[in-house]
Formats: sequence, structure tokens, C-alpha cells
Amino acid sequence: MGQQASDVVIVGGGPVGMGLAIELGQRGVSCVVIERYAQPQPIPKGQNLTQRTMEHFHCWGVEKAVRAASPIPVDFGIGGLTAYGTLLGPYHYDWYQRVIVRPYYFRDNERLPQYDTEAALRARAAELPEITTLYGWTAQEVTQDAAGVTVTAASADGQTRQIRAQYAVGCDGARSLVREQAGITQTSSDHESRMALLVFRSKQLNELLAHFKGKSFFNVLHPELDGYWQFFGRVDTGETWFFHAPVPVGTTRENFDFHAYLEGVVGAPFDCDFKHIGFWDLRVAVADNYGAGRLFIAGDAAHSHPPYGGYGINTGFEDARNLGWKLAATLQGWAAPGLLATYSEERQPVFVSTARDFIVNYIEDDRAFLRAHDPQRDREDFEKAWAVRASGVSAEIQSFEPNYESSSLMVGAAGGATGAVGSHSFKARAGHHLAPQILSGGRNVFEELGAGFTLLAFDAQAPHVAAFEAAAKAHGVPLKIVYDTSGEGRGAYEARLVLVRPDAFVAFAGGAPAPDAATIFATAIGG
Ligand SMILES: Cc1cc2nc3c(=O)[nH]c(=O)nc-3n(C[C@H](O)[C@H](O)[C@H](O)COP(=O)(O)OP(=O)(O)OC[C@H]3O[C@@H](n4cnc5c(N)ncnc54)[C@H](O)[C@@H]3O)c2cc1C
Repeated sequence: MGQQASDVVIVGGGPVGMGLAIELGQRGVSCVVIERYAQPQPIPKGQNLTQRTMEHFHCWGVEKAVRAASPIPVDFGIGGLTAYGTLLGPYHYDWYQRVIVRPYYFRDNERLPQYDTEAALRARAAELPEITTLYGWTAQEVTQDAAGVTVTAASADGQTRQIRAQYAVGCDGARSLVREQAGITQTSSDHESRMALLVFRSKQLNELLAHFKGKSFFNVLHPELDGYWQFFGRVDTGETWFFHAPVPVGTTRENFDFHAYLEGVVGAPFDCDFKHIGFWDLRVAVADNYGAGRLFIAGDAAHSHPPYGGYGINTGFEDARNLGWKLAATLQGWAAPGLLATYSEERQPVFVSTARDFIVNYIEDDRAFLRAHDPQRDREDFEKAWAVRASGVSAEIQSFEPNYESSSLMVGAAGGATGAVGSHSFKARAGHHLAPQILSGGRNVFEELGAGFTLLAFDAQAPHVAAFEAAAKAHGVPLKIVYDTSGEGRGAYEARLVLVRPDAFVAFAGGAPAPDAATIFATAIGG
């Protein structure tokens, strides 16, 4: 049996595991990734990547490759549409227009099949000497002791290996071995719905939907489906599509006419050639803690849910970004002992809120709407209610703003609860994502952020800046200081001093009276 040592072992090299490996590798942390499959699996799945995810990709050096791999040209459009009854019926409105919140992020959103994203992440990981990948290996056992963790893995041809590391992270999907062997419990709600996942080719469907300019995904609400979606997504701009929707319990590939079902959802006949027919159970599950001792979980291993709203892969990448700098700080000796526990403290409530306030809320809200309004029963009432729904869509996008307001790492946060409901603002607020602004030299603030903490000093008093510098030095924390005037767009931060964490969240914002830099730093690193 071969043996290998590393700082971190990552079980699962799907999108989240590879993102975490890059985050760690770029920070000089050695890691081994164990991934069952030699190649990414050919199901398009998580295609909608948010502006925030593209910020991660910018930092991870994969943005260019990911955009180049997208089969949807920028001028084609990646917006969404919701329809009632059938896709070609008379009732529809624009949906999920992420462009509304674009000014609050540094990068544009993107859309491409998950396997292409995974391929780009794998290629980037191959460039980093700190990352060792074991593709085609399956983790079988994960144990921990006072000094570290041991993961036993086997290859398809029967070889076994033990990997010893300081920490292990399970990015091993919804049926996570690491979660199970760490003894981490989950809270789940089963919706008892069987969902079909279809990938198919149809040029005719492309022609039928050609008048929906700029749209790449389509959601059909049907009165008989109790709020569960019939969801089409483009895989490319020509002929490839994916679709998921509830099907009767007991449905198999053989006993159900998927083609007729699709035509019913669209409301017109069209040719189609199936590439994949699969199933998944609609369930929302969240781990009660994202860590146990030296073992952590991230991505679908920590939270699994229906792909309503495109939260899965995007939430997983944010997990990786949050955990990555905390693991690096701990391994490099500049974290306080409590820092790693704040990964779960910050990320778990964000998913609980994402599930409750967005995903389940969509289902319940659609269900209530479909029960209350029916154009066959009362057309005028339906059309009025439909128009109200259409006008509420942008509010949903605005209010999805994951934040860590009650995190123990924050000084001077507004005092709300950590969760996914917030508001987008240019003001720098402790516990919230930093909004981009242009510096007087013409570069974006995000281009100047350091790998460690960054202090934005906008016409700040020299002794205040010196106090932050001294506090960082005392704790051995890497700190970059960006000096500028407080004029132009930077005034919108409403703060002379903004302390930004390695994940681009604000740890502190203020200026007068003189901030207690020593306490702010000690708190921000888990003191
Ligand atoms: C139809 C559909 C559409 C979706 N659309 C979206 C969307 O638009 N936007 C969005 O954000 N999300 C979407 N999602 C969700 C998204 O696909 C998942 O959230 C995402 O794949 C999670 O990534 P992950 O790396 O955490 O887990 P996974 O993708 O499940 O990866 C886990 C990896 O671990 C490996 N593994 C597991 N066990 C072991 C082991 N013991 N040893 C070694 N390797 C192991 C697996 O092979 C796999 O590669 C969609 C999902 C579906 C099903």
C-alpha cells in the first residue's frame, strides 16, 4: 500500500473540490485530490454561474478558459423566462435577470455545461505544483486522530493508497462518504417527488423558441404540478437541451413517453433525439455542521437541493473560498484557534436561509399562486396576479445577498442574522461582499486586493492606517494597503477605512472615531 503526505486531502474532484484545490494551491498549501472519475461526467447540470462565481474564477486564474469554453456567445444572452401552462402559451415574463445586480460585482455572469467548467478547473489545477490529483481513485475510509487525518483510497485496478494530511475536506457530493464517516448529521425534507433529467438534441425546438431572444433557460408552471418546475435549459445555441421536471413515481426509462411529455410542456410537436435519461429525488438536505474536528465538508456534501435558482454549484464555490483561506491561515500559523470553526458558523446558516427563503419558498409560492389563480376559471384575476408576479422578479434577485452579519469574525456589523437574505449596496458593510469601485488610477479595487487581508485607505488618517499595519504585523497576518482619495465612486463605500478579507468580504468599515485596529484584527482571524 502506497503512502503520501500532504497538508490537505480533498475527497471529490467535482467543481467544488477542484475550486478548493486551486484556492489552497495558490496559497501555497499542498493538497491531494481524490476523484473517482478519470474524466468529468457528461451531464451539463450546473450551468448558470453567477457574477460572484466569476469573481472566484478570476482569482483562480480560470475565468478566460471558462468563458472561452462557453458554447453560448455573449451577444446571444443567458437570461431566463417563466411561462404558464405551456412554453408557447400566451403567458410569460422575463425571469432571473441577474444583470440587475451586475454593478455590485466585479465580473459578468456566465453559462456553460458543468463538464466544461470542470475541465477548465482541472487544467488550472494541473498548473499548480502544490496540487496532486488522483483521478480514477475512490476514497474508501476517512479517519482522524489528534495529529491528522488518514484517507484510504483504491484505484479501479485494485491498488490502494493511504494519504496522511492535517485536514480532510469532503467535496464528494450529496452521498458524501466524508460526511458520513465524520458522523455529521443532516436535516432533510423530502418532497417525495421523482424528477426526470433529460439531455436531448432538437433543432426544431431551437426554431420554436427563436422568438425568445436572449433567453437560455425556460421554466414552465403547470397547474397540475403543485409548484414543481418544468425546466428547459440550453446547452448550446443550436440543438442541445436539458430538461428536468417531476414524473410519476415508478417511472423508468422504458415505461414512460418522454418525447410526448416534452411536447406537452412546450405546447407543439418537435423532433428530439435523447442523449441521456436519468432521475433524481427532489430533497432538500443540509448538514447540521460543516465540520467535525479535522474533517470538513463543502458543496453538495454539505447541502443538496433541487436545482431551482442555480444555487448549488455557486454556493459550493463560495464554501470553497470561505474554507480555503481559513485552512491556509491555520496551516501557515496566522489564524487564531477559533478560525476554522467559523467556516460552518458562516456558511451553514447561509444555506439554511437559501433553502428556506428561496428554494422552498419558490415551490410554495408557485403552489399557492397556481391554486389561487387559473385563467380558465377567472381570466381577469389570473392576468392581474400574473402581472404582479412578473414585477416581483427583480426583487428576488436583489434580495439574494448572502452575508455574515452575525459572524463572530465581524466588528461593527449591523447586527442582523447571517443568512442569504440581504440587500445589494455600494456601502462597505461588515459581513457583506465588497462592491467593486474604480480607483483613481483607473484599476478596479478587485484588481488590487491582496491574497491576504487588504486595507482600503481612502483619505484615511496616517495613524489609523499605521495602527492596522502594526496589528497585522503583531499577528503575522499578510496585509496589503491600498491608498486612494475618498472621491468619485469610492465615496459610496461611506468609509475611510475598509478591511477586506481574503474572500472579498468586508471585515470592518469605518474611519471615525479612531478604530480599535488591534481588536478588529484579532477578531477577524478568529480571536
Ligand atoms: C439537472 C441539474 C441542474 C443543475 N443546475 C444548476 C445550476 O444551474 N446552477 C447551480 O449552481 N447548480 C446547479 N445544479 C447543481 C450542481 O450540479 C451541484 O450543486 C454541483 O455539482 C455540486 O458540486 P460538488 O463538487 O459539490 O459535487 P459533485 O458535482 O457531486 O461532485 C462530487 C465529486 O466527488 C466524487 N466522489 C464522490 N464520492 C467519492 C469518493 N468516495 N471518492 C472519490 N471521489 C468521490 C464524484 O465522482 C464527483 O466528481 C444542478 C444539478 C442538476 C442535477
